[in-house]
Amino acid sequence: MRIAIGGFLHESHSFAAHPTTYADFLSPGGLPAMRIGDAMVPGLRTTSAPMAGAIVVAEAAGAELVPTAWAFANPAGPVEDAAFERLSGLICAGLSLALDAGPLDGVYLDLHGAAVIESFPDGEGELLRRVRAIVGADLPLTISLDPHANLTAAMVQLADVAVPFRTYPHVDMKAAGAQAMRLLLERIAGAKPWFRAFRQLDFWIPLGSQCTLVPPMADAMAARATMAEGVAELAWCFGFPYADFADCGPAVACYATTQAQADATADAFVALVAERERDFVQETLPSAEAVAEAMRIGRGTVVLADTQDNPGGGGHGDTTELLSELVRQGAQNALVCLINDAESAAACHAAGVGSAVSLSLGGKSDGMPFLCEAVVERLTDGVFELTGPMGAGNPGNLGPTALIAIDGVRAIVSSRKMQALDKAIVRHVGVEPTDCAILVLKSSVHFRADFGDMAEQTIVAIAPGPVVADPAVLNFRFVRADVRRRPRAAG
Ligand SMILES: [Zn+2]
Repeated sequence: MRIAIGGFLHESHSFAAHPTTYADFLSPGGLPAMRIGDAMVPGLRTTSAPMAGAIVVAEAAGAELVPTAWAFANPAGPVEDAAFERLSGLICAGLSLALDAGPLDGVYLDLHGAAVIESFPDGEGELLRRVRAIVGADLPLTISLDPHANLTAAMVQLADVAVPFRTYPHVDMKAAGAQAMRLLLERIAGAKPWFRAFRQLDFWIPLGSQCTLVPPMADAMAARATMAEGVAELAWCFGFPYADFADCGPAVACYATTQAQADATADAFVALVAERERDFVQETLPSAEAVAEAMRIGRGTVVLADTQDNPGGGGHGDTTELLSELVRQGAQNALVCLINDAESAAACHAAGVGSAVSLSLGGKSDGMPFLCEAVVERLTDGVFELTGPMGAGNPGNLGPTALIAIDGVRAIVSSRKMQALDKAIVRHVGVEPTDCAILVLKSSVHFRADFGDMAEQTIVAIAPGPVVADPAVLNFRFVRADVRRRPRAAG
C-alpha cells in the first residue's frame, strides 16, 4: 500500500503588513522548517504537526509512505504567487514522480485551510484542484485542517474527507492528522466515498470567542462530539475572519454513509451554534484600562493578552502600546513577551549585558516605536525547545534575543516573531513566568494552553495591531454580502 503525503500550511491575513514569501516557509518560528522528499518523515515524526500523527498511523498499518513536500509559514499577509507556485510545484512534482514509480493507493495532505494566495483566494481549493488533476478524481484523498480554516465547497468536493483539530488552543494537531489517515485507510480498504453536506454559518466568530476551553465554544465542541458519533466526520471550522474573500467565515462539513444523514447532522449542528450567537460576543478592555486593572488586582500573575498584535494571526509582534502603558503607569515586575525587532535586538547584542541602550523599540509595522533608555539584562541566541501542550518538542528560533529592563518593566526583544504560546520563550531568557506580576503575551487564545492555569486573571487588551478583536471594522471588499461580520449581541 503506497500513500503519498504532503503539506502546505498557511493562515493568511488579507490586511497584514507583510506578504508571505517563499523564504518565510524556510525559517518559520514554532514549527519545523520546510521538508522535501526523504527529509519529511524523519523531520516531522517527532513534532506536534498533524503530519506526525498521520505518519504514525500509516506506519503502524504497514503503508509505504511516499513523501512529497511539507511547508509551514507563520501567519502574515497573503502568500505571494511565486511562493505558492514553488511549494505546490514541489508537492505536485512529488506526486507525479510517485506515479511514475508505481500506482498510488491514496494521498494525505496536511493543510491549514485559510491560505489566501495572491491569485487564488481559496489557496487550498486551488492546491487540491492541482493535486486531483494529477492523481485523478477517484483516488482516496483525505486532508487535515486547522479549525481556523475558511472551509470552502471546493475543499469539500475535492477531498474525500477533511478533519480539523477539535481544540483552540490547538493541542490535538497530531490527533487530527491521525484521524485523517485512519479515514484514508478506511477508504483504501474499500469504504465507498462518503456523502457530504457543506454549510456556512451566517455570522463570523471573533478569534477570542473561538477558545474551546470555555463556553460557548466548549459547549459547541461537546455537542459536536456527540453528533459526530453516527457519522464518519463532522468537520467544524470556526473560520479565520481576516481573509478577504467570499468564503471567509465558519463552516461545517458532514461526511456520512447517506446524504440524508449528512444533511441532517450538519443542519442540526449549525442550528445549535446559531442558537448561541449572542454568547460569542467577546469582552475586551482598552490597553490603558487593562494595565490599570492588572495593577489593581496586584496578586499572582495577571496575563494581558495583546490579541491584536498576535503573530499567530498575522500580527508583526512589534507594537508597543501595552509596553508604553506599563511604563507610563509605573507598573512593577511586568514582562512583555515579546517585541519582534531585529534592529533593537542587534543593538542590545552590540552593547552587551549590563549596558544601557537608547532604543527606538518595535513599532516597525505601524510606525509607532517606543523610544526608551533600557538596560540589557540578558542576551541569547533565541534557540530553545518548546515545552508546552501545543508545541512540546518543536524547535523555537527567535534569532538573537535580548531581555531588557525599563524601570520595573522588562521586555523580550527578538529578531523573529513568534506567538507567545509557550513558557519556554520566557524561561529561555532566565525568567520564571509565575514570578511576574504582569505578563503581556502577544497571543489571542493559544497562550491559554500553557499560561492559562498560572494566571490569576486574564484580560484581553485592545492595543494596535492587525488582528483586530472585531474584524468587522476592517475594509473587506470581497466577503459575501449575507454574512454578519460580528455576532449579534441580542435578538
Ligand atoms: Zn489555528
